[in-house]
Formats: sequence, C-alpha cells, structure tokens
Amino acid sequence: MSSDLSTLSITEAAKMLAAKEISAVDLARACITQIEKKNKSLNAYLEVFDDIEAQAKVADERHMKGESSPLLGIPLAVKDNILIKGRRASAASKILEGYVSTYDATVIKKLKDAGAVFLGRTNMDEFAHGSSTENSAFGPTKNPHDESRVPGGSSGGSAAAVAASMALGALGTDTGGSIREPASFCGLVGLKPTYGAVSRSGLIAMGSSLDQAGPLAQTVADAELIFNAIRGQDPLDSTSIGEAFYPKRVEKKKIGVPRHLLKEGVDPDVLKTFEATLATLALQGYEIIDIELPSAALALAVYYVIMPAEVSSNLARFDGVRYGLSLAGNSQWGDYAKTRGTGFGPEVRRRVMLGTYVLSSGYYDAYYGKATIARAMLRAEVRNALEIVDVIATPSAPSPAPRIGENISNPLAMYLLDIFTVTANLTGNPAISIPMGNVLRDGKALPVGIQFTAAHGDESGLFAIGTSAEAEKKLE
Ligand code: GLN
Repeated sequence: MSSDLSTLSITEAAKMLAAKEISAVDLARACITQIEKKNKSLNAYLEVFDDIEAQAKVADERHMKGESSPLLGIPLAVKDNILIKGRRASAASKILEGYVSTYDATVIKKLKDAGAVFLGRTNMDEFAHGSSTENSAFGPTKNPHDESRVPGGSSGGSAAAVAASMALGALGTDTGGSIREPASFCGLVGLKPTYGAVSRSGLIAMGSSLDQAGPLAQTVADAELIFNAIRGQDPLDSTSIGEAFYPKRVEKKKIGVPRHLLKEGVDPDVLKTFEATLATLALQGYEIIDIELPSAALALAVYYVIMPAEVSSNLARFDGVRYGLSLAGNSQWGDYAKTRGTGFGPEVRRRVMLGTYVLSSGYYDAYYGKATIARAMLRAEVRNALEIVDVIATPSAPSPAPRIGENISNPLAMYLLDIFTVTANLTGNPAISIPMGNVLRDGKALPVGIQFTAAHGDESGLFAIGTSAEAEKKLE
C-alpha cells in the first residue's frame, strides 16, 4: 500500500479509515498537499474550499460515534456546475461569476449524508460545452500525463484532480461524453449512468434530456461506490427513476462490437489497443460478436441539433436579472443583450444561436423534428442490439488527448471527439469508460479508454465487465 495517502483508491482508504489506521483529516491533508504542489500549473480547481479540515473533522467524529459508510471521510472534487449550498457555482462562465448557491444539489445532499469531504470546485468547459476544458472562462486545465495536452472535457478539472492525486474521486456531468472522454484521456474510470438513475436537481442544466451526473474515479469499485451513494429516485426531479425500475440481467458474457463505425477516423494506435483489449476479454470467456448500428453514424449530427436546442432553452434563464452578471444597456432588451453578449463566451454563444435556429418556426421540421426521429431510430437499434449482446464496446474517444490549442479554432474537429460517446446520451443507456492502455506520443504514454454501453438500468453489468477489463490491465 502506498505511503502517500493521496494516491489511495477510495476502497483502500475506506478500509484504512474503518480500521482506524488513518483519519479523514490525514486523508484531507494529503490531498491538500498535492493541490498546493500541482494546482497552480494544472488549473484543475477553480476554488479550493477553506474548510476542508473542518469537514474532515466532522467525518472523523461521525466515525468515532460508530457510523460507517464507504464514503465517510473520503475527499472528493466537485465539478463547478453542481450546486453546493452557500458556495459559489459558476459553470466556468463569467455570467455566473460570484453566484452563490442557495441549495444543495440532490447528489451533494446524498454525498453529505454519506460523509464525503468536498475539496473544491473544478474547472470545466463553460456550461459544459466542450471536449477539452479549453472553453472555460478561467483558462484551460492541463492533462497531468502531459501538460502540453488537454485533460478532455467538459469535466476536465475533475478528471485532472483525480489523475494528479488532488482528490480520491470526483463528480462530473455527462451530456454527450463529458465524464467518459476525460476519463479516457486521464486514465480513469468514468460512468455516465442511465438517464434518470441520478437526480438532476441542482445541476446547472445543459441539455435536460441528455444530462446525467456521475463519478470519475481510479477504479471500477470506486466508481461503483460513488454511483451507489448518489443514485435514486428524487421528488425534485420528475425524470428520476428508482432502482427497481429495470429488470436485472444475470449473464454478462456477450460483447457486441459495431466495427462498421471504426473504419474511418480512429487513430490506428487506439484501434490496436482496443482490439488487444477485446482479445484479452475473449480469453476470459467473453464472446465478441459483430453488430450493426446503422443509425449510429448519424448520432453526432443528431446530438449537435438536439443538444443546442436544449442549451438555447436552458440558458434563456441567464438574463442579467435573476442570476450572476447584470449589465445595463439602454433598454430592457439592451440589458439582456449586453449581459448575455458579455457574459457568455464564444462557444456558448455559438450553441445558443444554433439552438435557436433549429427551433425556429421555419426550420423546426427540417432540423429538430428530423433529429428527434433519428434519435428514436437510434434508441430502437441500441435496444435491439442489447437483446442479442450484453454490452456494446467501442473506444471511448477516437484519439488520445489532443494538444492544448490543437482544435480550438476548429469546432467541428472538437465535436468529432464525441463520436462514440453521444449515442448513450441520446438513447439514455448507461455507459462507462475503462482505461485500456497507453499510446506513445512524443515519448509520453497517453492513456486511452474502452467504452462499454449496457441496457437501461444495467450499471451492474458495466461494473462487472469493467472489473474484468481492469483486471487485465493490472496483470500487464
Ligand atoms: N463534448 C460534448 C459537447 O461539447 C459533450 C459535453 C458534455 O457532455 N457536457 O457538447
């Protein structure tokens, strides 16, 4: 076991806490030391909380009184679009700078009940719009594996914090891949739960039919611990669903691979690592089956119509009256225009304009209407495929982490990074990214991930296959 407590997995730390070998204060201090050493250059945290040790002391007291929960005293990082009462939350946007949350998101309330210690709020693409964390109004986050590269996005701050031992685990949000893609680029496990498995109450909304909060962690077991703590039906989110909603599957031995999606645009080293991982899973008794998802080739286009439509509606609330920044123009409309024009960054403005366009009366049928039809087709195809196989496997992203600045002036290249992740958001299925190895770039080993998608409600299937894939990596 490591002597530096910050590098412990949650599972290891929880064991040591339970055996009273360490205290929550020791753990918190170990993370603070790493933060002091690394955050300046990595820019993973936008704010490090001033009461971390006090929170840890409370956890130690609860522990002394005999309470036990696997997350009691575990230090976690929280993405800056998840509300913590009395704390600032900015979604990495100038328009929300200085905004203070008036209530706890349900996921936060659940983690507080479980005794987690919150270290701070982490950097992200503004309003979660992006795949690199370069769209933050507060500067990019760097990838701890190679600081000239992005950590992925939009939950890049959370991923970098965990990968650099500045937190034992973290919360992210995933609208089109924002947990799984940074997990892939930073060598972590990242889970996008089934739509509705985790309450969205208290998340700063991006695309309400797509958003889910979930864990970024070092191991599958850790991701499962966080997921179990945050999941569940919530009266504050009418789209949330209970655990018993979906039938459970028992047999988990068939992996479907849509190889027709891998013919173009995937980095050859990523592909090689992916095939090698499948081969080792086959040796463990998994059956690898070719499947077809004909509409999956449309997923990216569908996502980039539906998501901006929902973004344009959700972001209408930032009007300079109700939250955050408020600038005076020379009329009421002038106030809106000035506040929104100044407060939103360029990518957010692009999406609001795109979304407004696809929803406008003249173009609704041509874009938004068509996209919803294609979304339904995709959902049916994935459901049918998951009647034949237990999980669907693809790489999590088509490449390892790009360099900082590489895609910033080419939004389409940036959007292409989401090619494998958006489908699960459109269909509501749970999906997980598991480290599958490294590829070498300029002498640096860059992590890449394999994504598994399961039937609605079958997170346990993802944890099972994730554990098998992870075990292979440990043997290497
Ligand atoms: N990269 C995707 C986008 O830019 C996904 C973002 C997310 O999941 N929040 O929209």
